[in-house]
Amino acid sequence: MIAYLEHFVHGNDAESRQDDTDGDVVSSLDGLEITTATASAGKDFGGTKFSKPLAVVRPSSAVDIARAVRAAAATANLTVAARGNGHSINGQAMAHRGLVLDMRAMENHCFRFGAENGSGGLRYVDVPGGALWEDVLKRCVSQFGLAPRSWTDYLGLTVGGTLSNGGVSGQAFRYGPQTANVTEMEVVTGRGETVICSEKQNSELFFAALGGLGQFGIITRARVLLQQAPDMVRWIRVVYSEFEAYTRDAEWLVSLREGEGFDYVEGFVFVNSDDPCNGWPTVPIHPNQRFDPVRLPSNAGPVLYCLELALHYRHSHHPSTLDMEVEKLVGRLRFVEGVKFEVDVSYMEFLLRVKRVEEEAKVKGIWDAPHPWLNMFISKSNIAEFDREVFKKIIRNGVGGPILVYPLLRSKWDSRHSVMVPESSNIFYIVALLRFVPAPPKGPHAEILVAQNNAIIQLCYNRGFDFKLYLPHYNSQENWMRHFGDKWTRFIDRKANFDPLALLAPGQKIFSRIP
Ligand code: FAD
Repeated sequence: MIAYLEHFVHGNDAESRQDDTDGDVVSSLDGLEITTATASAGKDFGGTKFSKPLAVVRPSSAVDIARAVRAAAATANLTVAARGNGHSINGQAMAHRGLVLDMRAMENHCFRFGAENGSGGLRYVDVPGGALWEDVLKRCVSQFGLAPRSWTDYLGLTVGGTLSNGGVSGQAFRYGPQTANVTEMEVVTGRGETVICSEKQNSELFFAALGGLGQFGIITRARVLLQQAPDMVRWIRVVYSEFEAYTRDAEWLVSLREGEGFDYVEGFVFVNSDDPCNGWPTVPIHPNQRFDPVRLPSNAGPVLYCLELALHYRHSHHPSTLDMEVEKLVGRLRFVEGVKFEVDVSYMEFLLRVKRVEEEAKVKGIWDAPHPWLNMFISKSNIAEFDREVFKKIIRNGVGGPILVYPLLRSKWDSRHSVMVPESSNIFYIVALLRFVPAPPKGPHAEILVAQNNAIIQLCYNRGFDFKLYLPHYNSQENWMRHFGDKWTRFIDRKANFDPLALLAPGQKIFSRIP
């Protein structure tokens, strides 16, 4: 393997050929577990972007990662991409002819529980950057009856991968995204330095790396805040025919304080038809529940809205008290009378709910098909117009999978972090078009769906909406500058500081490698 790298470094790179340090570069990778079996590192969940890395490194420690980064820095052209679970959509974890670090090689390192001094004794767990959230959940609950406070819907994602973006689910209205629930990290910067950072120590790196799209360093360990894990969850779905009533209720629910409202608030749009992938059948939670369209008002439009809620409880909670608490909240909601579904499931079953979807999608062959997804944050001030123009027109027939839309609170997002959200009001909505369609010839070509995504983004620009792409992807630096707006200068300053050669996460296509 080293011979192969040597060939690459010496044979393809005129500048480094003249550089006396080349021998050191190659030998500095000696002893690392490296493979040229790169097929899986050259593709991702999106299934539309492909690239061929030079090699995949399976690091066994932060020291290995620092060595790989320093070795790449000593060449004129090598880049380094940390790959979490490769669940990006647009090649963000790829490194064309560069080194890909398989972060899952370190997924079993250092799970350590502790309590913060001086912040009310908040409990935490130190987890490896390459750990899957699913594993974090299982270990925390089974060993200590504790669990992280903020999640993603799907847990087959790595800690480092979601912290590099945000990490959003139905708990984010209360605790903020996952990036807001981390108090310390160990990060290997683009300079090859291993740095412990927090709000108080090396804070600029801490803030930069959270939501930083992998641009400033590789997260090898994160300290994640925990709460008492409940035993059970009451999981509820109620349906609306009017977007205005839906948003009013959703916004009221996310404004309630802890202990006064639900523990989870999400929602989605679905088609007002019996289509099995896009319509009424997607709403019931349990197989023995049926959606009764007779309940719908005769003037209901082409799409309907479903608010999805969950309340945590313990086995010791008296059933009648629980019913009363739920009824007190649900009784104030103005959903379509009678169109309500509820089940009681264990906390683990609730958090692992998308795993069931994954298993079914794999059977149908749509898990491995292309996924041209679109994720956006849209200000409250524009969401009604978005509903009229996008939900009710452009995607009125659905996207073959969930269309999420639910409110989040900007006050729960730390503006010192690198992630961008709309600024014009405290409430903004996440909108996610999670397309699950078969590959051609059974389904449409991905380009057609990408074009539809682009038409939606263009509509938002044309109408002057206050919005940001979540899990952003752009092909030009101008678009990245527009994305970061007045935070662009901060972003490039941070890049110059922590990754001056622009080695890291080249698949984001923000910066070019500096020779
Ligand atoms: P990868 O795709 O491997 O990497 C993403 C980026 O992070 C790359 O630039 C990579 O270089 C960088 N990176 C990876 N690891 C590290 C590290 N340790 N240090 C520094 N940089 C690193 N998002 C949500 O917020 N909420 C959801 O509910 C949600 N559900 C999803 C469900 C599915 C089925 C899928 C496919 C995606 C979902 N996402 C969701 C999006 C997901 O959070 C991002 O795509 C995330 O980046 C994927 O994590 P990953 O571990 O696969 O990262």
